[in-house]
Amino acid sequence: MEFNERTIKVIVDEAKCEGCTTHACIEACKTFSRGILALKDGKPSVEHLSKDELIRKGTECLACEYECHFRGNGAITIEAPIEGLAAYRKKHGMD
Ligand code: SF4
Repeated sequence: MEFNERTIKVIVDEAKCEGCTTHACIEACKTFSRGILALKDGKPSVEHLSKDELIRKGTECLACEYECHFRGNGAITIEAPIEGLAAYRKKHGMD
């Protein structure tokens, strides 16, 4: 599943949630954001929120990705596009 916040996209590879015992993403979301992730069938879910609520409540803290990487099964990837980054990297020979 995937969902958008204001400027980022959160992508969850739900197959990797099978057997996860920590559900660290949920705790991280409650601790560092506004608890937009809910646990449903052993996986994170945002089905209880509308797209508008996700935009309004999401803080884009990235905590779910961090905690899932270190305490879960590495199921979360967050895309955080930065305007101008590609041009900057090209200008400084970083491509
Ligand atoms: S911590 Fe990662 S692997 Fe575990 S339930 Fe959350 S997203 Fe899935």
